Amino acid sequence: MANEAFNNQAFQQFLGERKLMGSQCGSCQTLYLPPRPLCPNCYDEAMAWVELSGQAELRAFTTVSIATTAMIEAGYGRDNPYCAGIVQLDEGPSISAQILGVDPRHPESIQIGTPLRVAYIDRGEGEDKKSYLAFETVS
Ligand SMILES: [Zn+2]
Repeated sequence: MANEAFNNQAFQQFLGERKLMGSQCGSCQTLYLPPRPLCPNCYDEAMAWVELSGQAELRAFTTVSIATTAMIEAGYGRDNPYCAGIVQLDEGPSISAQILGVDPRHPESIQIGTPLRVAYIDRGEGEDKKSYLAFETVS
């Protein structure tokens, strides 16, 4: 399978299977999310897939009302802002993703350190259907 390639396409495919997968260096054990094919720490290529728990904490965020084309098609924009955040996984690595369960119209209500868990958003239909990484607040 193409899952042997530690690239964004494989990462996306796993998202479609509702799996949050990173790559881990076999030499120095550093974990990468999104996955990397080569360890920038020790230049080893002995990567292995690791499934992450999806437990995370909000580290930084911004609310976005000037949306990209893809996000406008998903219904976001000036009248319906969304929250984009940097999330740190319990396992260590950080990744940017859309944050669900918060109120982007009231950014002052969004707290750094909020516990989050992985969520998956499907956009598009049929052949164009794609799964995106998101995190939601734990209630
Ligand atoms: Zn390494």
